Parts: sequence; structure tokens; C-alpha cells
Amino acid sequence: MEFNPPRDAAAEARLWRAAREFERMHPAFVSMTYGAGGSTRDRTARVTGQLARETTLLTVAHLTAVEHSVAELRSIVGTYADAGIRNLLVLRGDPPGDPLGEWRKHPDGLEYAEDLVRMVRGLGDFHVGVASFPQGHHRSPDLDHDTAYLCAKLRAGAEYSITQMFFDVEHYLRLRDRVAACDAVEGAKPIIPELMPITSLRTVQRAEELSGRPVPPALMRRLERAGGSDPEANRNDVRAVGIEIATEIGQRLIDEGAPCLHFITLNFAKATTEVLTNLGYTVTAAPVSA
Ligand SMILES: Cc1cc2nc3c(=O)[nH]c(=O)nc-3n(C[C@H](O)[C@H](O)[C@H](O)COP(=O)(O)OP(=O)(O)OC[C@H]3O[C@@H](n4cnc5c(N)ncnc54)[C@H](O)[C@@H]3O)c2cc1C
Repeated sequence: MEFNPPRDAAAEARLWRAAREFERMHPAFVSMTYGAGGSTRDRTARVTGQLARETTLLTVAHLTAVEHSVAELRSIVGTYADAGIRNLLVLRGDPPGDPLGEWRKHPDGLEYAEDLVRMVRGLGDFHVGVASFPQGHHRSPDLDHDTAYLCAKLRAGAEYSITQMFFDVEHYLRLRDRVAACDAVEGAKPIIPELMPITSLRTVQRAEELSGRPVPPALMRRLERAGGSDPEANRNDVRAVGIEIATEIGQRLIDEGAPCLHFITLNFAKATTEVLTNLGYTVTAAPVSA
């Protein structure tokens, strides 16, 4: 499950409710994204550390090179290590304010995620993951370059990748084929697919931002049909179709041998739990941890 840094105390309380719910499903791991902005960053480091220390959840901290010198990046990695976090998802990040804008590295920073993978691996005994893009990163000239850069990140010491969210499982399968063809050793490393249940027509826009692509027309038609002439009045029907779509995608991924499923949760437990229940996962009694 993927969490986002809470912006205030109320959001933090919501995140904790979701984390406690997820504990009962024994996920392989949870991750916390890393955003721009000083105060959010402090809160991110604190809450991520708490998740690692105070829950049964294996916690992966995302880390980006955005607006950081190498010295700062080393210090952040040290903070995470002090909090007992040994798992990092290493990313370049996007230009603050405009994710599609021109990337400029910090004058004393790093250019690519590959450089950050090397840095983190050089700092100690960390398990490192990286991002992968089933339809290619929006700045990659083509899919071959995109695959070659992913293989370079894996060769630099990353042990797995987590994909950008997608709706068409074929894109995930073709990515897996490309990485295997590019490098047999790196191709054997897990590629973890990311998905997000759509719970309303409003979340479609969020899903499109996160996947970087429009929701496929056939899925859009199913959601719109459920919404009918009054999507607000029929919001439960739209939500049910969104859960059904995420379940179908999840089932196909499991059938195709995906190593696990990574859910964008937006810090809510309900939708992800419903999809996992549909897929046959069970919820156990509440955990004993405080
Ligand atoms: C699962 C996942 C989680 C994410 N979490 C976060 C988060 O927490 N915070 C956040 O800010 N962003 C996050 N992102 C977004 C990510 O930071 C952006 O997509 C960013 O634009 C690319 O990051 P990257 O690590 O793939 O960069 P890179 O691997 O460095 O790639 C960036 C671009 O450079 C190209 N490239 C790479 N190596 C080379 C090279 N040697 N020569 C020439 N070109 C090269 C790539 O093809 C790509 O176009 C996440 C993305 C994913 C998929």
C-alpha cells in the first residue's frame, strides 16, 4: 500500500486509521511518498519513522533528488536509517510546481535516479527499489531508451521496481518482456505493478494525473454508464464499477504472475480492502501493537 505524507493533524489521524486497518491484511510492505516543501518533508520523515517503529508494517520510504544537494540527501538517508528504515524507493522526482516542466538538478545534486541508487547503496546496507513506466516515462525518447535506463538503475543496485499506475495490463506485460530482453539478470528482478481503485468520477482526474495517461475509453464508458444522468445520485454504482475494474486488473496481474500488487490508497483503507477481499485476501483480528 502507498501512503502520502499527511498535511495536517486531521490527515495524519486518517493515515493512522488506514495503517491500522492494513496491518490486519499483513501486506508485504507499505510505502510513503516524498514530496516537495520543508514542513511536509519534516512531517514525512517523522510519520514514516513512526510507521516503521510503531506498527507491524514493513515500511519503504520514497526519496527524491528534487532540490537537494548530495550532502542533504546523505543526511536524509541517515535520518531514515536512524528511524530503522532500511528500504528506500529511490526516484529522481519532478520539478516542483510543474511535474511536466524542465528538470534541473540542484547545483550540488544528482541528475538521475541511477546516481541516487549508487549513492544510497554506497551509504550502507539498504534495500533499494526504483520506478518503472509501463508506457515509458514522459521524457524518454522511446520505449527502448526507457527500458535501457531502467536496466541501468537495476544494475546500479536496485532490487526491484514499482511501476507507474496503469489500466491496461498488456502495458505491464510488455514492460516485463522488454526488461527481460534487455538484460536477463535484471529482468529477473520483481516488477511490482501499481494500481488505484477509482471510487468516483472525480477521482478519474487524479488517476489520470498519476498514470500520466487518460483512462481507456472502454473503462470510462463503464464508469459513465454506472453514473447515468446523475453521477452524484448514482455515486455508489460508480464506486462499485471502479472497485470491479480494479479487481479485474488485480486478478489478471495475479494470473500473469505479478510478484505483488501495490495500491495507491490516498490514505484511505476502504477501497483497497474491498478489492483485496474480492481477490480472496482475508482480514485478521486487530493487531496487538499500540
Ligand atoms: C512507483 C512510483 C513512485 C513515485 N513516487 C514519487 C514520490 O514519492 N515523490 C515524487 O516526487 N515523485 C514520485 N514519482 C514520480 C517520479 O519521481 C517521476 O516520474 C520522475 O519524473 C522520474 O523519476 P525516476 O526515478 O524514474 O527518474 P529517472 O530514472 O532518473 O528518469 C528520469 C528521466 O531521465 C531519463 N534518463 C534516466 N537515465 C538517463 C540517462 N542515463 N541518460 C539520459 N536520460 C536518462 C529517463 O528515461 C526519464 O525520462 C514516483 C513514480 C513512480 C512510478
